[in-house]
This record gives sequence, C-alpha cells and structure tokens, in this order.
Amino acid sequence: MKRAISFLLIAIFLLLAGCGTPSAQEQFFTMDTVMSITVNGKGAAEAAAARQEVEGLNALLSRTDGDSLISRLNAHAGDGTAVEVDSDILELLSFAKSISQLLPGCFDITIAPVMDAWGFTGEERHVPDAADLARAMALVDSGKLLLDEEAGTARLAEAGMSVDLGSVAKGYAAARTEEVLREAGVTSALLDLGRNITAVGPKADGAPWRVGVADPADSSRYLCILSLEDATASTSGGYERWFEENGVRYHHIIDPKTGYPASSGLQSVTVVSQNHLLADALSTALFVAGEEEALDFWRSRDDFELVLCTEDGRVLATEGLEAGLEFRGEEQGYDCQMVRR
Ligand code: ADP
Ligand code: MG
Repeated sequence: MKRAISFLLIAIFLLLAGCGTPSAQEQFFTMDTVMSITVNGKGAAEAAAARQEVEGLNALLSRTDGDSLISRLNAHAGDGTAVEVDSDILELLSFAKSISQLLPGCFDITIAPVMDAWGFTGEERHVPDAADLARAMALVDSGKLLLDEEAGTARLAEAGMSVDLGSVAKGYAAARTEEVLREAGVTSALLDLGRNITAVGPKADGAPWRVGVADPADSSRYLCILSLEDATASTSGGYERWFEENGVRYHHIIDPKTGYPASSGLQSVTVVSQNHLLADALSTALFVAGEEEALDFWRSRDDFELVLCTEDGRVLATEGLEAGLEFRGEEQGYDCQMVRR
C-alpha cells in the first residue's frame, strides 16, 4: 500500500512535469512492482507495445514463473544440461558476471539461494538459521554460471545453484523497451519501471525530464530533483522491501560477503547513466559497496553519476549531475553536497 502511494505521488509529479501535450500512458504491475510508461506525441499503440515488451521480458527472466527461461536454467543446475539461451540474454548474463568481477563481494546474480533462505521469494520472510544460510552461501558464485557464446547456451555448474535477475531485469527491460519505442518513431517517453526511471529523449517541449530522487525516510518527499534526458536514474535502497524480526529491520539487498542485508552506511544509491542496464546493476552493487568504494569507483569511470543518501543524514551528488540539479533534502534535515572528481 505504501509503495502504491509513493508511486502515485511520483506519477503525479511526472504528469505535472509533462503536461500540455498529447500523450498515452500504460500503468501495470509486473516484475513485482508498479510500472508506468508515458509516450509523448504518439498514440496508445506505442505505449501498449512498450508494455508488452516489459511483460514479455518478465515471462522470460522471472525465476518464480516456472515456465521462464531462467527457471529452466535453474531447474537444470548441476545436471550437466546446457540450456539454450538467445544471444541478448547471454549478453545480459555475461554483463552481470562482469559487474561481479568489477566490484568483488558486492554483486552476484547467483544470490538466489540466499534470497530463498531469507524467505524473500515467498511470503514467509524470516532470519535464516546459521546452517541454512551457510548452505545457501556455498552456492553463490557466478563464476560457476558457465556461458557458451558459440553454442548459445548457459549452465549452472552445481546442483542447488540458482540465478535471480532482480538486480538487473528492470534496467535491461528499459534498454529493450527504448529500442521498441525508437523503432516506432517515438522521440519522447518516460519509463517508470519501479525505482528505475528512464527518459527517452527530452519532454515534449524539448526540455529535459525532471525526476525526483525519493527520500528513503519518506518516499513522498525528494532528496533532489534531477534533469534527465536519454538516461536512466536507478535507485536501490533498504527502504522499499523489508521485514522486522525482534525489532530489527532486514531488507532485500544482500551482502554476498556475509549473506546478511547489506549495511554499508547508505540508505540509498541512485545511479544515473545513459546505459540503462549499467544504472540498474550499479545501484544494487554500490549500495552494498558503501560510500567510499562507490565514490572511488565513480572516479575511476566516466559513464555514470551518483546520488548517495547516507545513514548519517548526508546527500551526496556527483558533479556530472550539477546542471539542472535541485537539492530538496535540506527541508528534511539532510546536509546536501556536490562531490567533485
Ligand atoms: P529493486 O529490485 O528493489 O528495485 P535492486 O535493483 O537493487 O532493487 O535489486 C534488488 C534485487 O536484486 C533483490 O530483490 C534480489 O533479487 C537481488 N539481489 C539482492 N542482493 C543482490 C546482490 N548483492 N547482487 C545481485 N543481486 C542481488
Ligand atoms: Mg538494481
């Protein structure tokens, strides 16, 4: 319910930001989240095609849908069967493996057994007992997700291993959906795929889209407003999905080094990049990494920018976002700063 309300507020903000031009909108629920796609200057057909693309990808990538490609890959873990996978999905799996290598100990799509041990896959969320968690942790190693690009197959080397694409599916869907829209001649659209906001082109009036980064403490408020054009802003944080046991909060982004919810001193990480998939993967990985490693990694590259919200009440935005950025966090008591290279 809380999620639905915050979604509505975001939607209202976005609508105000884009009013005055004909547009078509689709709102739907898939990948376990509420999504909305707004297409400017075109009919409803383009928005519907975009929705279909996202829903089709969910049917392929979901691991709770028994018929999906990923479920088939997981079902054959350890039995030697190489599962046929088309080249786009092989590329996605290979990309996810590369993020694990770039940020060791922060990111791993074979985290699924640990998600299951915590009950995050079903309804019964709970702190796992030590033996169950250790068994699950022993199965996490994307080095044992074997990809054969020539044969067009993927295989999990050990029984019990399992892939979970929750950290990258929405960014991947954004990239594919943008292609579908571009091919249909769309030059202005906004994809809100659940904390992954993708601006396709500018708004109808030619100005960049204005997108709010939610305050983790109150997602009806904003830490800052960003200007976005041909880029994704992807946010990961411990504030969206969590449960409480004995007065302690446990959230759904797991530190692969400990098997426990990451506690790196960050409340949320927003990654802005023209590479939609990179934005999604890095938001998860850098949330686990923490402030220092996240900023070091940012300084080592030039293909993304960051908004970090720390547990001690600071909002840090990297300098590439400065044009058009409006800090709002002061109103909620945050100390807001620009970070230079
Ligand atoms: P959300 O899906 O809530 O928007 P993320 O993009 O950060 O947020 O993805 C979180 C999901 O990624 C989790 O639900 C889980 O499926 C998976 N996951 C959790 N921890 C990790 C991790 N360290 N590396 C890769 N995937 C993870
Ligand atoms: Mg992510």
